Amino acid sequence: MVFPLDSVEDFSIALTPEHEMFRKTVRTFLEREVAPRVMEIEESDEVPRDLLRKIAEQGFLGVGIPEKYGGQGGDHRMAVIMGEEFCRVLPSLSVYFGTNELFTTPILLYGTEEQKQRYIPPIASGEKFGAFAVTEPCCGSDVAGIQTRAEKSGDKWVINGRKAFISSSDVADYFIVLARTYPPPDRKLRYLGLTFFVVERETPGFRVEQCYNKMGLHGNHACELVLEGVEVPDENRIGDEGMGFLYAMETFDRTRIGVAAQAVGMAQGAFEKAFQYVHQRQAFGVPLAYFQAVQFSLVEALAKIFTARLLTYLAAKLADEEKKEYTFVASLAKFYATEAAEEVISEAINLHGGVGVIVETGVERFLRDVKITQIYEGANNIQKLVAYRQLVRILREKGQIPEEVAKLLT
Ligand SMILES: Cc1cc2nc3c(=O)[nH]c(=O)nc-3n(C[C@H](O)[C@H](O)[C@H](O)COP(=O)(O)OP(=O)(O)OC[C@H]3O[C@@H](n4cnc5c(N)ncnc54)[C@H](O)[C@@H]3O)c2cc1C
Repeated sequence: MVFPLDSVEDFSIALTPEHEMFRKTVRTFLEREVAPRVMEIEESDEVPRDLLRKIAEQGFLGVGIPEKYGGQGGDHRMAVIMGEEFCRVLPSLSVYFGTNELFTTPILLYGTEEQKQRYIPPIASGEKFGAFAVTEPCCGSDVAGIQTRAEKSGDKWVINGRKAFISSSDVADYFIVLARTYPPPDRKLRYLGLTFFVVERETPGFRVEQCYNKMGLHGNHACELVLEGVEVPDENRIGDEGMGFLYAMETFDRTRIGVAAQAVGMAQGAFEKAFQYVHQRQAFGVPLAYFQAVQFSLVEALAKIFTARLLTYLAAKLADEEKKEYTFVASLAKFYATEAAEEVISEAINLHGGVGVIVETGVERFLRDVKITQIYEGANNIQKLVAYRQLVRILREKGQIPEEVAKLLT
């Protein structure tokens, strides 16, 4: 029953009154400051700077960052609650937290004290924004295949390459860039030789090029980056040379809990709109909710939202407790929540009938937004591969799978 966790107690999500108080604070802020501006942001595809400033003033941008570096020192559950609440109202706003977290995580895990002091506090306060540049036109899922190169020249590194789909890059001040610094020793070890560097926006040779016109997450932009002879000092290298692939995977292990939370929030937002609608709209002389087919649809959607939320909170709680199984649960949460959310949102549109596809109704945008969560930070196929490998690793460590079988499968 507890497989692959050790105890049934591990299934507790252990939320506290502080988590609930925080949730209410975030919701009140969103209802007051963001809800009235959703259509304006959706149509203009721009988040007004004053809104980002207000979000920063609330301390929301520092929630998951340790107090020592100017953050609120909140746990993963708090970050998940915040992501969910933001996505219930306007998902694109949560991408700014997401990219900040992608930027800060490798620095917090592997950076020097000096790097942490330099780059983390301005992100926590909202004075600066971060972006995470791994994907290239050639390679998204195949991270080890990237072609950006960094070559050592004295005590500097010279970076050349092109990055694609980099979220928040039009507003970001700091970029964490993955580049190949030496060729892979062999095909099996091609994940070695990649290294992370921090590149600041004003560095000569660095520029942000076209931002894409994408189907969803309006208000946050994904753009291409060009790096032509970009020179950074060795102090900007994060962690050990050649270990960037592993750092990127460890970062995704943490941040994918946030993507699952995004999907839960989007499903919740669409569900609430549908729930309200079917109790108001009359057909055949009764509210739509009178029909059993509609009732079935509502409770099936709720079951999916609850399941996705519980998995997501469970991953966050296991991460808070530093249980190694959290990475596996985070992978399950990411693909389950993003797929379940698409089903819930699609049904929420159906329940609205014709007005469901009208932009002003405000429900169809969730479907456009949720599609992206199935692709970024590990497309769901990759997510399932990762989940299976993580499961095998856990079972191998526990001696529950023969060593030679585990070796073959990982
Ligand atoms: C809006 C948006 C924002 C993004 N933001 C960022 C960002 O901030 N930073 C960043 O670095 N990247 C970002 N990305 C890139 C994103 O992470 C990649 O798009 C994603 O990893 C998929 O890579 P790809 O697009 O190259 O697809 P591909 O890798 O070409 O994959 C295409 C399809 O093939 C499947 N596939 C690939 N390999 C396998 C396999 N081995 N087994 C089974 N199926 C497989 C995939 O699941 C997918 O369905 C963003 C993408 C989008 C759309």
